[in-house]
Amino acid sequence: MTAPGITDVHVHIQPWRQLKPAVAEAMRRGKEDHWDFLLALMDDPKALLEIMDRSGIWRVGLVNYPSPDLMGFTMDTNTFAARYAEAAPERLLPYGGVHPRFQGEIYGHIDDLLEMGIRCLKLHPPHQLFPANAYTMGLETLAAIYRRCEDRGLPVMVHTGTSVFPGARNKFGNPMELDDVAVDFPDLVLIMAHGGRPLWMDEAFFILRRHRNVLLDVSGIPPLKLTEYFPRLVEIGERVLWGTDWPSPGVRDLRQNLDQFLALDLPESVKTAITRTNPLRVFPVQ
Ligand SMILES: [Zn+2]
Repeated sequence: MTAPGITDVHVHIQPWRQLKPAVAEAMRRGKEDHWDFLLALMDDPKALLEIMDRSGIWRVGLVNYPSPDLMGFTMDTNTFAARYAEAAPERLLPYGGVHPRFQGEIYGHIDDLLEMGIRCLKLHPPHQLFPANAYTMGLETLAAIYRRCEDRGLPVMVHTGTSVFPGARNKFGNPMELDDVAVDFPDLVLIMAHGGRPLWMDEAFFILRRHRNVLLDVSGIPPLKLTEYFPRLVEIGERVLWGTDWPSPGVRDLRQNLDQFLALDLPESVKTAITRTNPLRVFPVQ
């Protein structure tokens, strides 16, 4: 059997025109060419697929989540992701979200996401303004999100680490809050995005070692720093997922990041697991 292709579980193709003017301006200013590139990508899945072909990437996860008050993304972000992925359902994995501070009928919303073909629910505490364990302090809708995703087998990806977006609250980026979630929802597949970088790698590693259903998505960590950030990466190699955060500023090139990772001094079997087989286990071909 030939090895499956490479999956990048974390790229940003989002409905950028929904961004609040101040946020859009912060993203555009001084980076006008990049902004135009982002819009061109979001308008045409073929442009993305061409780049994936050129870069030797089989599949990508399309990170989307509502953040109406801070970023401007409404629940339509889910429809956007699902429609976009229709261009190549095997290769484009749409992610979506439900906002625990704005949506009441959580179970229904999550069932809708599944019906639309959403493959992963994204939570972004610094952009959605709650800690990932806020249900322990009364945010019942957040518990309902975790419970329904656990019951229905929908993986949940949680942003950890800092964000420099205007308005982002970085105190909500600490991965330690996932300890509660993993204890209370033991069968939930939890993907910890960014491994708490650049501040909380020790906390992140502790959570990863303690809870077998928590996975690490390495996106946003410069590949050349990965083994410095996580010196014991090999110990959790079966639960690490390749991701880049492309085309966020600072992530120039999908392929260059991958090449830098593949050149690291890690066992080949671990590199194959991270880039190919682990993502396929979490996101099987449907
Ligand atoms: Zn991201």
